[in-house]
Amino acid sequence: MPQLETVGAPPLLEVKNVKKYYPIGGTFRRAKGFVKAVDDVGFTLNERETLGLVGESGCGKSTTGRTIVRLTEPTGGQALYKGKDLFRLKGRELQSARKDIQMVFQDPHSSLDPKQIVGRAVEETMSIHAIGTKRERMEMAMELLHRVGLREDQYFRYPHEFSGGQRQRIGIARALAVQPKIVICDEPVSALDVSIQSQVINLLQELQEAYELSYIFIAHDLSVVRHISDRVGVMYLGQMMEKAPTNELFARPQHPYTRALLSAVPIPNPAAKKERIVLKGSIPSPLHPPSGCVFHTRCPFATERCKAERPALEEKAPNHLVACHLY
Ligand code: ADP
Ligand code: MG
Repeated sequence: MPQLETVGAPPLLEVKNVKKYYPIGGTFRRAKGFVKAVDDVGFTLNERETLGLVGESGCGKSTTGRTIVRLTEPTGGQALYKGKDLFRLKGRELQSARKDIQMVFQDPHSSLDPKQIVGRAVEETMSIHAIGTKRERMEMAMELLHRVGLREDQYFRYPHEFSGGQRQRIGIARALAVQPKIVICDEPVSALDVSIQSQVINLLQELQEAYELSYIFIAHDLSVVRHISDRVGVMYLGQMMEKAPTNELFARPQHPYTRALLSAVPIPNPAAKKERIVLKGSIPSPLHPPSGCVFHTRCPFATERCKAERPALEEKAPNHLVACHLY
């Protein structure tokens, strides 16, 4: 059965079978083992869409994002953007694709130079991609600072003069400075106070509308992902367990892992019956992932088949994909 999400216009970004293995104890050929940080992950991203990626810490969300923008080199797979595989691009073509896909990080403080005024930080990516004259870049940076809710005169201020939320606004201005098509937001509000989180989320949504952006929104906080995403992918130990439109995923979670994640979140509708799945044990090491279904060691429903055979991610309901032998 064809996946509805791929019918019609081709997706803006199509990520297929991405793998990122980190060698342990030597270079790739001499490695004593591999951390399978991302192991055969795929998804599509459409224009102006937000895809949420969720899963516990260490499941490979950041590595997935960083691999797509080639901050780290992939071990395998493809990332098709405008018909070209980002993983095969070199030189000028890679530069130009990189301009179109920007990242916003959890901690903007670590990516801002404490000795550089923030206006210059915003201009930096424009200079790298040779956009505008010096004067035009300055004007654009001021305009962007204003657009993200800061004052134009704050162009001349240093990072330490800003709060966490303001610094994240600067991080966002920086990502937008080169007019990207896609922004990969890696836990952009996780380090912020809850009251500030919603302001930054609202800003991201406004900017998405204004600049027709597509987002890959990475978070471990399900309520944030639910709020902002059109579709959600649930990752566990480097693999995609379930993928569905947001409403569908939250109304009818199928994978036992997703159900366990959701059962730990308060449900706003008290009439909804709350099932509680408590996971046994802790997350296994991605250096020695379990056989078969990587989730079987913690799954209350695991069978012999789950120990032996990795379930494929298959469409079990329209647009709802699940990697589980139970269905
Ligand atoms: P998440 O963002 O979901 O918390 P990450 O993508 O950061 O997860 O990490 C996935 C796995 O890859 C983790 O087990 C992590 O320890 C491992 N990992 C990440 N970066 C490296 C690296 N440079 N070298 C070795 N292992 C790494
Ligand atoms: Mg991360």
